[in-house]
Amino acid sequence: MELIELIETLNTAHGPSGDEGGVRAVMEHLAKPYADEMTADTLGNLIVRKKGSGPKVMFAAHMDSIGFIVTHIEKEGFLRVGRLGGVSPKEVLYTPVRFKNGLRGVVVPEEKADFGKLKLDECFLDIGARSEEEAKKLVRVGDTAVYDTAVFTNGGGRQVFSPYLDNRVSCAILLSVLERLPAHCPNDLYFVFTVQEEVGLRGSRTAAFGVDPDYGIAVDVTDVDDTPGSEKSGTTQLGKGAAIKVMDSSVICHPAVVAKLEELAREGNIPVQRDILRAGGTDAGAIHITRSGVRTGGISVPCRYIHTPAEAVDLTDAKACADLALAFAQAELEEC
Ligand SMILES: [Zn+2]
Repeated sequence: MELIELIETLNTAHGPSGDEGGVRAVMEHLAKPYADEMTADTLGNLIVRKKGSGPKVMFAAHMDSIGFIVTHIEKEGFLRVGRLGGVSPKEVLYTPVRFKNGLRGVVVPEEKADFGKLKLDECFLDIGARSEEEAKKLVRVGDTAVYDTAVFTNGGGRQVFSPYLDNRVSCAILLSVLERLPAHCPNDLYFVFTVQEEVGLRGSRTAAFGVDPDYGIAVDVTDVDDTPGSEKSGTTQLGKGAAIKVMDSSVICHPAVVAKLEELAREGNIPVQRDILRAGGTDAGAIHITRSGVRTGGISVPCRYIHTPAEAVDLTDAKACADLALAFAQAELEEC
């Protein structure tokens, strides 16, 4: 399947942090033909294994997304919500949202709210209910909702706009790696689609303990420095290739892994750039401090407007990330 088709398919799945059952079922279906073994652990991480006799390599892409959780249902039928992960109120105003049962609504600010200092507490969801009773027939406290915005491409299919490219684009990348791997691989490969990354790298912590890998590679989006008025919180640019993580606020990548990824990129003519993310972490943060330490790095997809309902990536960068991950999966790696 093409990356864009995988993104479109995954985008329709429900999977905010802690409620990933929907997206996990879709991932299971897509990964099954390529798996030697497939399990889900206690927290809900999906672990897909391709057996090999060499070092254990764990690739991790989180499958959860940011979203909303219902906290109160008001007399007039409006909903108050809390955030799951890094939802910024000013970035989600008047955004359509979708619940697991298909119910839709819109995020609306109170009229008296100061938009400059807007808090999520000053916003509500309008689901079209006229009363508390009517609303309670549709939702319960604790139900979760996600952005319900469109996926489209520009530039002849080069740039894709979509909610939840963070991190469905990386799930799509790892699925495409699984699809392209030869029948026999030297390394013992674990493709882990993690849960609850957006609320603090929780799934990857238990998954890495369970897998006990020699090497860890987190695949995730990263911030860019290529738009007007950029605050330079990232170092990457759309269209300049796969980003090899050097550091983010959760990890300083193992120099041997950074060097290996750069060597593989040179050998394979894969366009790459260096990634330092000044605010925000990835699953690499949890993996590298597992047990007595794991040699860990990251392959990142440069992404504009992260955590908004309209994130944007260049699909040629995503393809370069898949090529680099595929090369690492098959690389001759030092035993640890
Ligand atoms: Zn992410």
